[in-house]
Amino acid sequence: MSKVKKIIKTITVDIEKCNGCRACEAVCSAFHAEPKYSTINPERSRIRMMRHPLKDIFIPVYAGEYTPAECMGRDKYIIDGREYDECGFCRAACPSRTLFHEPDSGLPLKCDMCEDDPPQEKPLCVQWCINDALIYEEREEEVEEEVQIDDVEVGIKSLADKHGIDKVVETLTRMSQKS
Ligand code: SF4
Ligand code: SF4
Repeated sequence: MSKVKKIIKTITVDIEKCNGCRACEAVCSAFHAEPKYSTINPERSRIRMMRHPLKDIFIPVYAGEYTPAECMGRDKYIIDGREYDECGFCRAACPSRTLFHEPDSGLPLKCDMCEDDPPQEKPLCVQWCINDALIYEEREEEVEEEVQIDDVEVGIKSLADKHGIDKVVETLTRMSQKS
C-alpha cells in the first residue's frame, strides 16, 4: 500500500475546564441543521455533554464511528475518586442507546470537524467554547492510503439494521421508479 500525506485534525478535551454550558452542542446542531443555522437541537449534535452537576462531572464526548453491534460488556472509570457512567466516554453510535443517532431517521451521527466550503478556521465547537476546554490542532502525517467507507454506505447499513434490508431495498426501488 502506498503512503500519502494527510492533515490530521485533533481536538483535545480538557475535562477540568468544562463547566457543562452546552454551547458546543448548540452550535454543532445549528451548523448541521438544514438550512444551516436554522434550528438548535442538541439531539442532532455531534458532541454531547455527559453531565452530573452534583458530582462535578462534565464530559464533552465526540460522535465517532457507527457500529451495528453492542459490545459484550460495559466499561466503568474511576478517576480522582469520581465514578463515571458506564459508556460515559464511548464515542460510538451503537444500537444500545439513542446517543449519536439522528432523532428522526435514526441515522448515525459522526463528527466531521465542521467540513465546510470555504473551510472554517477552527471547528465551531472549539470557537464557541469560551472556557478553552476544547483545543484544536492540525499536523501533517504520512499514512497508508486507505479505502474510505462511504457515508452513504454507512447510512444504508444503519437503516438496514433498523428496518431490515428487504424494507430498504423495497423503499429504494420505489423511490427510483418515482424519479
Ligand atoms: S468539530 Fe464540528 S462537527 Fe465535530 S462536534 Fe465540533 S461542531 Fe460538531
Ligand atoms: S462549550 Fe466548552 S465548557 Fe461548554 S459544555 Fe462544551 S466543552 Fe464544556
